[in-house]
Amino acid sequence: MKATEKRGYFGEFGGSSVPSDLQNVLDILEENFYRYKDDEEFNRELNYYFEEYVGRKSPLYFAENLTKQCGGAKIYLKREDLNHTGSHKINNVLGQILLAKRMGAKRVIAETGAGQHGVATATVCAMFGIDCTIYMGAEDTKRQSLNVFRMELLGAKVVAVEKGQGRLKDAVDEAFADLVKNYEHTFYLLGSAVGPHPFPSMVKHFQSVISKESKKQHLAKEGKLPAAVLACVGGGSNAIGAFAEYIDEHNVRLIDVEPDQAPTLTEGRPGNLHGFRCIVLQDEEGTPLPTYSIAAGLDYPGVGPEHSYLKTSGRAEYVTVTNEEVLEGFQTLSKVEGIIPALESAHAVAYALTLAPALSAEDSIIVNISGRGDKDVEQVFAMLKK
Ligand SMILES: *Cc1c(COP(=O)(O)O)cnc(C)c1O
Repeated sequence: MKATEKRGYFGEFGGSSVPSDLQNVLDILEENFYRYKDDEEFNRELNYYFEEYVGRKSPLYFAENLTKQCGGAKIYLKREDLNHTGSHKINNVLGQILLAKRMGAKRVIAETGAGQHGVATATVCAMFGIDCTIYMGAEDTKRQSLNVFRMELLGAKVVAVEKGQGRLKDAVDEAFADLVKNYEHTFYLLGSAVGPHPFPSMVKHFQSVISKESKKQHLAKEGKLPAAVLACVGGGSNAIGAFAEYIDEHNVRLIDVEPDQAPTLTEGRPGNLHGFRCIVLQDEEGTPLPTYSIAAGLDYPGVGPEHSYLKTSGRAEYVTVTNEEVLEGFQTLSKVEGIIPALESAHAVAYALTLAPALSAEDSIIVNISGRGDKDVEQVFAMLKK
C-alpha cells in the first residue's frame, strides 16, 4: 500500500483518468504538493495557523458520563467540533490554501455539500484576501441556507448548481468544469479525500493531524493504543485523518460508519467517479445512485480510494446506522455530555453506543467528533416534532 501511495493508487483504486488539459493542471499540483509537504518553512507556517487560528490541538476528551451509561469500553471523543468554523474541514483547507499561495493562485474555487467546506474555504480566503467562488447543489443551498449566508458574509460568491439532483456530486462536476476553463490563475480547493490524484493523498496528509494528535493523547492517558477508532464517512476525509496513524497498528480496529440511506462502502461496487476509481453506489449500468442522508455532508455516492482499498483489503470495517439511531446518538451526546454533535458525527456516536457495551472495560475507543451540531439543530427540531 505504501509503495503505491506516491503515485496515487491504493490497490486498484485511485489514480487519475481525466482529460489531458485537466491532467496537466493536476501534474503541476502534484509536483507542488510533494515539494512542500515536508518543507520546513511550509510546515512552520501551517502549524502556526493550526495553533493560532484554528485553536489546535483539539482535546481528546474522556466521555465519562457516556461511558458509564453504556457500560463497557471507555469512550474518548476527538473534539474536531471545537476547531474554528466548527469542523475538521479547516485542517485541509489551511493546508491547501498555503499551497495555493505558494503556487501564485489569484482565485480559489471549491465545492460544498453541507456548507461546512464552503464556509471553511471562504474563511481562509477572507483571512488571506483571495477571491473565492463556492459551488453548492441547489437542493443543499435550501437545506443549509444559513451556511450560504455565512459564506457570503465572508466575501465568497456562492453558485447554486441546479443540474442533476442539485447535490454535492453536481457541485463537484461544476467546480471541475470551472477549473478546466480557468486553471491558469485558479486553485481548486477540494474538500474531501476524493477526486483524482493528488487530492486524496493531499487531503489525507493535511487531515492526518487528527490521528497524530489523538495517538499521542491516547498513549499519554491510557498508556496503550485504543481498541477501535470510529468515524463517519462521506467522502472520507475526517475518517482517513482519524485513522491515518493507526493503519499500520493492526490491533486497532478502524470503523467507518455510514448512513443506511447512503451506504456506499456497504453496498457499492468498484467504479469510476470524477476521474478516479473507487467504490461507488451505482445501478446495473454503472450510473451513480441518488443518496438520501439526513446529514448533507454524508450524501455522496462515492468514497475516497484509500477507504475503498481499506475495505477490500479487510483492514477497516464498515457499518451502517439508521436515521433513528443517529437522532438517538445526537440527543444522547447532547444530554449526557453537553456536546451537540453535527448530524454527520452523530453517526459515529450512534455506533459507539452499540460497540462500547460489547467491549471490555479494559478497552477504550476513540470517536471522531468531526463537527459541531449548531448547523443541524433546526433540522433535528423539525424531525423530532414529526
Ligand atoms: C463534511 C463533513 C463530513 C463528511 O466529510 P468527510 O470527508 O467524509 O469527512 C463529516 N462531518 C462533518 C461535520 C462535515 O462537515
